[in-house]
Amino acid sequence: MPGSQPSIGQLLATAGIDPFEARLLLAHALGLTRVQLITKSHEQPGPAQVLAVRELFARRRAGEPVAYLVGYREFHALRLRVTPDVLIPRPETELLVDLASERIDRFVEQGVEPASLRVLDLGTGSGAIAIALAHLHPGLRVTAVDISAAALALARGNATAHGLDIEFIEGSWFEGLAGRRFDLIVSNPPYVRADDPHLGQGDLRFEPVGALTDRFDGLAALRVLCAQGAAHLLAGGCLLMEHGFDQAVAVRGLLLDAGFVDVASWVDLAGIERVSGGRVG
Ligand code: GLN
Repeated sequence: MPGSQPSIGQLLATAGIDPFEARLLLAHALGLTRVQLITKSHEQPGPAQVLAVRELFARRRAGEPVAYLVGYREFHALRLRVTPDVLIPRPETELLVDLASERIDRFVEQGVEPASLRVLDLGTGSGAIAIALAHLHPGLRVTAVDISAAALALARGNATAHGLDIEFIEGSWFEGLAGRRFDLIVSNPPYVRADDPHLGQGDLRFEPVGALTDRFDGLAALRVLCAQGAAHLLAGGCLLMEHGFDQAVAVRGLLLDAGFVDVASWVDLAGIERVSGGRVG
């Protein structure tokens, strides 16, 4: 019996992190499925693999997000590569995708071809929203903008990996879009207030700060989207934005001030008003 090397089962038992996450990290490091971890639980990985696994467990114990450790996250049933250059896609952002997708369906029901519909995703990060929408609606013309070149490179890779043709533009919000109009504008902008203690907790500590907070009152980016959005929408076009748990009233106010109609907010799975939007008349 090859003495000192721990078995898969022993590695799991001594991981010191959430058991589900431990299995995920171990399966990733060993190139096994989670079922194989059970059937091979008495097998002993080689010394280099044991070191690699222990390193991953230690980094997780120090707080690094699982998504960065394995390098991907599932979003809307699509696997996306993520690195510390981008925000880790959140389940609540799937609500924004679903609402945007319903609006696209409505245009299509009115006889508009997806190929003549233009959708803009501002602050695309990993490309999650743009990619999910392009995947759901083949032929849709999707443009994705980010101020971070590193994020754009990652988003481009994600789009290519899913066989999607998306236009990527580097710039701050509407900066690179002079004179261009869209049927739908979506965004999950940085909306956490600069003094929000959550920025110092959990996964957020490892995520790009510029993707999380405006370093102000949390509404700075949402103000830009509302104030400049209408000028970049076609007649009947919609703006949909994700925002913080306590920002719905303020965002609806910004939309109304900017002349949007049919202004509304929608609740996420936790029952929190998480997305607000409106239409240009
Ligand atoms: N929803 C994220 C969080 O608070 C923040 C994402 C964002 O700022 N867009 O964890």
